[in-house]
Amino acid sequence: MPGKGRRMHQDARETLPVEPGGGLSDTRLVCFFCGAVRAPDLHPVCRACGGTMIARTSWPGRLPAGRRFWEFADLLPVSRHRVSLGEGGTPLLKLDRLFPDDEVYAKAEWTNATGSFKDRGSAVAMSAAMSLGAKGIICASTGNNAASVSAFAARAGLPCIVALPKGTPANKIIQAKAHGAIVLEVAGDFSDAYREAERIQRAVPGWANLTSTYVNAYMTAAHATILYELHAEIGAVGTVIVPIGAGPMLDGIMQGAQTLHEHGYLERLPRPVGVQASGCAPIAAAFARGLDVVAAWAAPVSGIAGSINDPLRGYPDDGTRTLRIMRSAGGHAVAVTDAQIERAMLDLGRCEGIAAEPAAATPLAALRDLADKDLPRPIVLVISGHALKDPAAQPGASGQSLDVEAGAAPAAIVSAALRQFAQRML
Ligand SMILES: [Zn+2]
Repeated sequence: MPGKGRRMHQDARETLPVEPGGGLSDTRLVCFFCGAVRAPDLHPVCRACGGTMIARTSWPGRLPAGRRFWEFADLLPVSRHRVSLGEGGTPLLKLDRLFPDDEVYAKAEWTNATGSFKDRGSAVAMSAAMSLGAKGIICASTGNNAASVSAFAARAGLPCIVALPKGTPANKIIQAKAHGAIVLEVAGDFSDAYREAERIQRAVPGWANLTSTYVNAYMTAAHATILYELHAEIGAVGTVIVPIGAGPMLDGIMQGAQTLHEHGYLERLPRPVGVQASGCAPIAAAFARGLDVVAAWAAPVSGIAGSINDPLRGYPDDGTRTLRIMRSAGGHAVAVTDAQIERAMLDLGRCEGIAAEPAAATPLAALRDLADKDLPRPIVLVISGHALKDPAAQPGASGQSLDVEAGAAPAAIVSAALRQFAQRML
C-alpha cells in the first residue's frame, strides 16, 4: 500500500506548526558578495546580485556551554523544529603514532550517523526547512550528501529527490535508497547533477534545495559547530585542514571562528587549509596562480577523491568565495595527487585505525605537502567520511587476506602476520 503510506506522511507534515514571519526570527540572510540583507526563506540566494548568502544568527549574549552539536543551537539558524540523528559531537583523536612529538589531531567526522560530516549541514538545513514550511527536499550530491539528506528527510517525514553523477560509488547510492529517496543518476559530473537539482527545485515551489555547495546558507552555517566543538575541547585551533569541493565546510568553520573572535572568545582565527584533488582543483589552481577569482575546471574530472570532485561549472563564484575566505585568514589551498591520497589512506588506516575515504584522507596528504610552511599548532585534520563509503578506492584493500589451508600451523600464520605488520611500519 505505498500510495496510502505516502498520503499518511503528507497529512502528518501538514499538521506541523509553522511560525509566522518565516520561522527563523533570530536569523538574517546576508549576501557574501554585495552585503544585501533579508529575512530567511527556502531559496536563500541574493535577489540583488544572485550571489550566495550567509545565514547570520543574532548573538545570544554568551557562548553556550557544552561540547555537543545541539548545545550550540542558539548560534545556529534554527528555530523550534529539530531534525536529528545524533549528529556532531565527534571524537577528536590525537595522532600520536603518525606525529608522536607534535600537536596533530583528527576530527572524526566519519562517526556521524550516515558516515560523513554532511549530517551537520543536513540537521540544520532540514530543521530550517521545516521551520520555513518546506513540502519536499531535493539535493545534488557526489554521494555523501545524498546519503545524509535522504536520512534527515526521512526523519522529517518529507519526500526527497537526490541527483547524483553516474558512476557514484554504489554504497552511497545504497544509503540514499535505504532512506527512501528517489535517486536520479545524471549523465556527466557533479556540476550536471547540480543543474538538474536546481531545475527541478525551480519547478516545484515550496521545496528546499539541500545541495551542500553554497546553495543552502543554513547548511553552510552548520559547519561552525566543528569549530565550536574544537574550541570547547582544545581551545584555539592553530590550523584547520579541510577537504574542499566548493568549500562550504571550510567557510562554515571560519564563520564559527569569526563569531568567537568578534565576541572575545578567540584572539586569532585559525589558519584554514583547503585541500583539493589534482584531477579537479579549480580553487587550488586559482590560489597557485595568485588570482582573486576562481574559474570553473575546464579539463575532464578525474581521480579517486570523488567526494570533492566539483568542477564548479556554472557557479565558479562558489570557489571565489572559498578562495577569499582562505586568503583573508592567511590560509592555503593545496592540490594533492591520487598517489599522495593513497599513501595518506594507508597511513591513517594502518597507523591510527582510521579508515578514511579518499577525500577524507586529503588533509593528511596536504599536511605533508605543507611541511615547510611552519603551520600554527595545534593542527586539526577534518577526516570527513568513512572508507566504507567507497571501498573500491581503498589501496591494497584486495589481496590482503592470508590464504591458509584449514589446519595450517599457527606458527606459519603468525609469522606471516608479523611480516605484514613489519611492512606497515613507517
Ligand atoms: Zn548580493
